Amino acid sequence: MSIAIPFLAFLLAGAFAAYHRLRLAVWAAITAGALIACWLLGANPVATIIAVAVLVAIAAPLLAPNIRKQWITARLLTFYTRLMPPLSDTERTALEAGTVGFEGQLFSGKPDWSQLLSQPKPVLTVDEQAFLDGPCEELCRMTDDWDITHVRADLPPEMWEYMKRNRFFGLNIPKEYGGLGFSALMNHKVIQKLASISSTMATTVGVPNSLGPAELLMHYGTDEQKQYYLPRLADGREVPCFALTGPFAGSDATSIPDYGIVCQGEWNGASVLGIKLTLNKRYITLAPVATLIGVAFRMYDPDALLGDTKDIGISLALVPHDTKGLEIGRRHFPLNTPFQNGPIHGDEVFVPLSQLIGGEDYAGRGWQMLMECLSIGRSITLPSISSGGAKSLACVTGAYARIRKQFGLSVGRFEGVEEALARIAGKAYAISALAQATAAAVSRGENPAVPSTIAKYHCTEMSREVIRDAMDIHGGKGIILGPRNYLGRGWQAIPISITVEGANIMTRSLMIFGQGAILCHPWVMKEMKAVALEDEQQRLDTFDGALFGHIGFAISNAVRSWWFGLTSAHIGKAPGDDYTRRFYRKLDRYSAALALMADTSMLLLGGKLKFKESLSGRLGDVLSQLYIASSMLKRYEDEGRPVGDQPLLAWAFHDSINKIETALSGALRNFPIRPVGWLLWLLVFPWGRRAQAPSDRLGHRAASLLMTPCDARQRLAQGVFLTPGVNNPAGRVDSYLPKVILADPVERKFLKALKNSDIEALDFTSQLDEGVREGWITAEERTQLEELRAMTLDAISVDDFDTEALRSAGYRDLHGRDATRAAA
Ligand SMILES: Cc1cc2nc3c(=O)[nH]c(=O)nc-3n(C[C@H](O)[C@H](O)[C@H](O)COP(=O)(O)OP(=O)(O)OC[C@H]3O[C@@H](n4cnc5c(N)ncnc54)[C@H](O)[C@@H]3O)c2cc1C
Repeated sequence: MSIAIPFLAFLLAGAFAAYHRLRLAVWAAITAGALIACWLLGANPVATIIAVAVLVAIAAPLLAPNIRKQWITARLLTFYTRLMPPLSDTERTALEAGTVGFEGQLFSGKPDWSQLLSQPKPVLTVDEQAFLDGPCEELCRMTDDWDITHVRADLPPEMWEYMKRNRFFGLNIPKEYGGLGFSALMNHKVIQKLASISSTMATTVGVPNSLGPAELLMHYGTDEQKQYYLPRLADGREVPCFALTGPFAGSDATSIPDYGIVCQGEWNGASVLGIKLTLNKRYITLAPVATLIGVAFRMYDPDALLGDTKDIGISLALVPHDTKGLEIGRRHFPLNTPFQNGPIHGDEVFVPLSQLIGGEDYAGRGWQMLMECLSIGRSITLPSISSGGAKSLACVTGAYARIRKQFGLSVGRFEGVEEALARIAGKAYAISALAQATAAAVSRGENPAVPSTIAKYHCTEMSREVIRDAMDIHGGKGIILGPRNYLGRGWQAIPISITVEGANIMTRSLMIFGQGAILCHPWVMKEMKAVALEDEQQRLDTFDGALFGHIGFAISNAVRSWWFGLTSAHIGKAPGDDYTRRFYRKLDRYSAALALMADTSMLLLGGKLKFKESLSGRLGDVLSQLYIASSMLKRYEDEGRPVGDQPLLAWAFHDSINKIETALSGALRNFPIRPVGWLLWLLVFPWGRRAQAPSDRLGHRAASLLMTPCDARQRLAQGVFLTPGVNNPAGRVDSYLPKVILADPVERKFLKALKNSDIEALDFTSQLDEGVREGWITAEERTQLEELRAMTLDAISVDDFDTEALRSAGYRDLHGRDATRAAA
C-alpha cells in the first residue's frame, strides 16, 4: 500500500494545482512538499524516489525557458502551423470585428461570475421611458394588425406619418443630427413593444434602426455625408434600406456578383469620377418605399483611375432611389407579413465616389464595415421581436387557457395543456432575459459578435416553439384568421425571423461555436496571432507563452470537468442565494466540460473542425445554453431575487441544463475519433448523464403562474402592449383574467345548483332568472355571471367572411370585378 502513496500524492498535488490553476512552479513546489511529507511519514523510499524523479523530469525542462523553447515549443510550433490553416481574410475580418464580454468567461472553464453580476442593471433614462409610455404606446394603440396584414398589405398612411414625425426611424441617431439618441437597450424595448402587437410594424421600425445606411453612416460616414443624410433619415424624409442579398448570394454574402466599375460619369450636370453599378438584389426590406438605398457590391478599377488595384473589393454606396438605371418598387410578399420588401435591379447606375459610405478611403472595406455593424443589428431586432411576441403570447395564452373551459374545467388545468403552458412560460422567461442581455451588452459599448449569434438563433428558435404551443392551446381559435385572431400572423411570420440576418441552420452549425472557439477562447487567438508574427524569435517567445498557458488550461479543464462530474457539482464556491447557488455550480461544471471538448476537438481536428458542422453545432449549443442560463441568473439578480420568479427561472434553467447534457452526450457519442470520445465521456460524465427535463411539478407551478394574476406574471408582461382595445384582442383577453377568476366560485355555485335542480330552462338568461328567483345567486352575482359570459364569448369567438371578402383585390382585378373593397 505504501508503494502507491507517493504516486497518489503526486497525482493529488497535480489535480489540486490544476483545479486551482496554479503556476507551474507552484505545482512543482506543492508536489515536492507532498513527496517530502510522504518520505517523512514512512512511505516506500523507492516509490518516493521514482515519484521525485518523474517530478524533476517534467518540471526541470518546463521551468527552464531556453530548454523549453528550443526542445518543446519550437517543435510544437511547426506542428501547430500545419494543424491550423491560416484564416481567410473574410474569417479574420469577421473575428476581428467582435469584442469579448462575459461569454469569454464561459469558455474559460472557470467563469468569474463577478464579471457578470457587477454589470450595471439595464435601465432606461427618463426620456426613454417617456417615449415608451408616450409615442410608442400611442403607435401601438393606432395599430390594427388585420387592417395592415389583410386589408391594405401595408401600414396605413397615418401610421407612416406618425412614425416619421416622432422619429421612430432615428431612435439611435444622435440628437445633434436630429435623432432621438436612444441607447441600444431602448431600441430593444421599442421593438419588443411594437412586436407584441404587429410584427409588420416592428420590422418596419427595426430595419432602419439596425444594420443599414444610418448605422453605417454613424460609424464611417464622412462629415458631409453625416450632416446631409442623418437628419433626413432621422425624420423620415429619407427611408433607407440595405441591399446585400441577391439570387446568387444568400448565406454566402461575400460571393455577391453585383459590381461597380470606376469611371467618369455625369452627376448633377457635372462630369465626375464615380462608379457604374450593375446589380440584381432581392428580399430587400423597405426597398419598395425606400428613397436611399445602401448597396453592397464588388468594386473594380480596370483603367487604374484610382491606383494600381484592379479588384478593390466589397464596397458600400448610397444610391438615391431616383438615380437613372435603378429599378425598384415591386414587392415580395413574405408569408402574409406585408412589411415592405422587394427586389432591386440596376443597370449601369452611375454614382460619384462621394456616394461611397465613408468616401474613397473606405472603398474595398465593405465587408469589414458590415461585420463591425452586423452584431449590433443581430443583437437587437430579431431577439426583441421574439421577446415581444413570446412575452405577450405567454400572458394571453395563460389567460385563454383559464377562460376556455371544456369538460367542465379550464383547459389549462389538464396536464397535457399544462405541459405546453409550462414550456411557453419558461421559454418566454429565457427569451426575454437573453434579448435584454445582448441589448445591454451593445449599450455598454460592446460589439458582441458571439452573443449576437446566440441571441439571434435561440430567441427565434424558442419563439417558434412558443407560438407552436400557443397555437395548439388555442385550438381552432388560433387557426381562423380575422381581426379577432392574435396568433395566426405570428405563426406565419416566424420562419422569416429564422431565415434573415444569418439563416438559423448556418448560424448554429457554423457561426456560434466557430466564432466562439476562436474569439472567446483565452489562448487560441493569441496562438494564431503568435504564429503570424514575422520575427522568428518574437514568434517563438510569444507562442511559448500562449502554448503553455493553453496546456495548463486544458489540463485544468480536464480535472475540473471530472471533479465536478464526480461530485455532481455539489461542492465548490459559488455566488447567488440559497436557491441559485447550485445553478452557478452546474454552469461551472459545464463550462469546464465545454472548454475540454473544445480544446480536444481543435487539437485533433484542426482546420477540419470547420467542416464538422454536427460537432460544431452541438458545442455551439453548449455555449449558447451556458450564455442563456447566465443571462437568466443575471436577470434574477437584477430583479432583486424575486421568489415569485423561481418556478420560471428553475424551469428554464433545467431545460437549459438538459439541453447542455443532450448536446455534450451527442458530441461525445458521435466524436469523429471514437476512442477519444469514450475517454472524454469518462471525464465529462463519470456517473453517466444525470440532467433531466424540468419535472411535472415544476411545470405545474410555471404554468399556474400564467393563469393567475401575480407579480411574476406582471414582470413577464413588462414592456409589451397588452392594453385592451378594439384592435387589441390579445390585450382584451389578458385583461379578463382577474374578473374571470373572481367569478369562478360564483359560477361553480350556480352550475352545481342548476345541476341539482329540476329547472328546464335551456337558455342562459332564463337560467340566471331562475337562479336569482331560487336564491342560488344574488343580483350582483348574476351581473358577474353575465359579464363572465360576455368575456368568455369575446375570448373564444372567431370571424367569418363572405367569399368575396376573402378574395384578394388582385384576384378581382384579374377577373374584371370591382377592385375596391369596402372592408377598409
Ligand atoms: C423577408 C426577408 C427579408 C430580408 N431582408 C433583407 C434585407 O433587407 N437586406 C438584405 O441584404 N437581405 C435581406 N434578406 C436576405 C436574408 O438575409 C437571406 O435570405 C439569408 O441570408 C439566407 O439566404 P437565402 O435565403 O438565399 O438562403 P440560402 O443561402 O440558400 O440557404 C439555404 C439553407 O442552407 C443553409 N446553409 C447555407 N450555408 C450553410 C452552411 N455553410 N452550413 C450550414 N447551413 C448552411 C441556410 O442556413 C439555409 O437553411 C431578407 C430575406 C427575407 C426572406
